[in-house]
Amino acid sequence: MFESKPLKQRVMKKIASHSVGIVGSGLGGLASACTLAARGHQVVVYEANGWTGGKAAVHEDSGYRFDMGPTILTMPSVLRRIFGESGTRVEDVLELVRLDPQWRSFFEDGSVLDLFQDVEEMAKVIDGFAGDGVSGKGYKRFQALSREQAEISERWFFWKPIGRLMEMFRPQDMFKASALRDVLNIRPGVSVARTLRSYVPDARVSQMLDHFTQYVGSSPEQSPAVLCSIAHMQAGEGVWYPMGGISRVPAALRAHAEKLGVRFEAGREVVRIEVEAGAVSGVVLEGGEVRRHGVVVSNMDSVRTHRQLIGGAIARRFEGRREYEPACSGVVLYLGLRKRYEHLAHHNFVFSRDPHEEFEAIYRRGEPAPDPTAYLAAPAGTDPSVAPDGGEALYVLVHAPYLRPGQDWKQMLPEYRQRILDKLKRTGGMEDIEERIVTERVLTPQDIHDRYRVLNGAIYGLASHGLLSGAIKPSNRSPDVRGLYLAGGSAHPGPGMPMALMSGWIAADVLHQDAVEGAVDVA
Ligand SMILES: Cc1cc2nc3c(=O)[nH]c(=O)nc-3n(C[C@H](O)[C@H](O)[C@H](O)COP(=O)(O)OP(=O)(O)OC[C@H]3O[C@@H](n4cnc5c(N)ncnc54)[C@H](O)[C@@H]3O)c2cc1C
Repeated sequence: MFESKPLKQRVMKKIASHSVGIVGSGLGGLASACTLAARGHQVVVYEANGWTGGKAAVHEDSGYRFDMGPTILTMPSVLRRIFGESGTRVEDVLELVRLDPQWRSFFEDGSVLDLFQDVEEMAKVIDGFAGDGVSGKGYKRFQALSREQAEISERWFFWKPIGRLMEMFRPQDMFKASALRDVLNIRPGVSVARTLRSYVPDARVSQMLDHFTQYVGSSPEQSPAVLCSIAHMQAGEGVWYPMGGISRVPAALRAHAEKLGVRFEAGREVVRIEVEAGAVSGVVLEGGEVRRHGVVVSNMDSVRTHRQLIGGAIARRFEGRREYEPACSGVVLYLGLRKRYEHLAHHNFVFSRDPHEEFEAIYRRGEPAPDPTAYLAAPAGTDPSVAPDGGEALYVLVHAPYLRPGQDWKQMLPEYRQRILDKLKRTGGMEDIEERIVTERVLTPQDIHDRYRVLNGAIYGLASHGLLSGAIKPSNRSPDVRGLYLAGGSAHPGPGMPMALMSGWIAADVLHQDAVEGAVDVA
């Protein structure tokens, strides 16, 4: 890459003498900051809110502590890679505890099924649960497919700045038998829901497995089969809880970044990314202060970055490339309970009566589900520090449509809150939940929209709908503006903690490559 040592030294000196601006301190922004600083860049992070970590925020009330956003941590290998950039071990900065069973599922018919990490063990459990003699075997075959797809993702999709389907494949590989096998295994044109049901006939087990696509806020009926790969990513690496809560992850990333010299400016909203002659020249902060940066990583939602911070012909080009459908939003109840429910695991799903009815409502009609699935985090069993003695910091998340015109959640909330509590009483065995509530806070799609500056209240960036290219998101290296890089859940490879972290790493990696090759001017 470098022609000579003096040239390398000159380039690195130049890199070190100019700072990269990062818009936002969500997981993607933090991952970029750590990676860039580890590679010798000066970095300034501008964060509009008063806290670090974006959606991975914390709410504390009367001795209860809640993770406000993500609660399920998978693929710790991504964190390992980010900390590893500067030789730090994740184990030295986070105490990660493996959770197995990974989820407990409560179904409308009163049955309960635990999801275990080990595939053989899980297949036996499914055999006993379904009693049909085929679903257990089907689960093993499904996991084998999922593993193949995860390996394909690792080969073609992860750790590089893909922005279009064709960018995944190198022309010389296109006609190799192995590439054709890979294409067949991702089952183009087939949905997650259809794939799952062709392997696992039991309706309850397939409903449970459908929910891997809820990690990316998309309907399994509209998402491409390659997203079945998430099942292996979870079975392969496990589900983890950082003691102290998920918010320990952004806290550890920030502490690490600061050690490497990154500067954080909280309460500083970026209102404009300056572009001169097709290249980034700086950012404008609220109040009008201009900061010069030859390169900027935006961790703001990728669509809003273009619409709000750039505008004009560049935004029109970005918008014209494809339709950007927001992923789902959600209603979250943070309930401080006097007494914990012993029958709950750490992670639980209380499933809807009918997945098709639920997904049609949320994703096609844009209405709250008549009988929703509720996800519950009950962390006190793992981490008693989250609640007063014997209590629970119960987190209840119900997916809801992204914000549509005319939807006023102030009006919709009271009825929907009751619908959720009734569901927990009926299907989750929590009949006396209302009597146990000591503290309560609620986050609606409108709150999510306002707090995190996302697209139409979307929790997980852009939907993965489209049976051919639904998994493809905007590239981490802008094709429209030199020196602009995108990180976070609405950029490649997508949402969820591991993917948002990976997107930050990719944005930093291509930025660094471009800087050392002189393709962007860091000055
Ligand atoms: C309720 C909920 C539950 C979830 N559950 C899970 C889960 O269990 N597991 C999982 O893996 N994922 C989960 N997710 C998704 C996960 O939280 C996100 O995918 C991930 O945290 C997104 O990170 P990000 O890098 O996109 O940044 P974000 O978290 O979106 O943060 C972006 C940051 O940029 C700042 N910003 C935006 N615009 C500007 C600006 N103009 N100037 C300055 N700052 C700006 C914002 O204030 C924010 O702090 C959940 C999300 C939510 C909301």
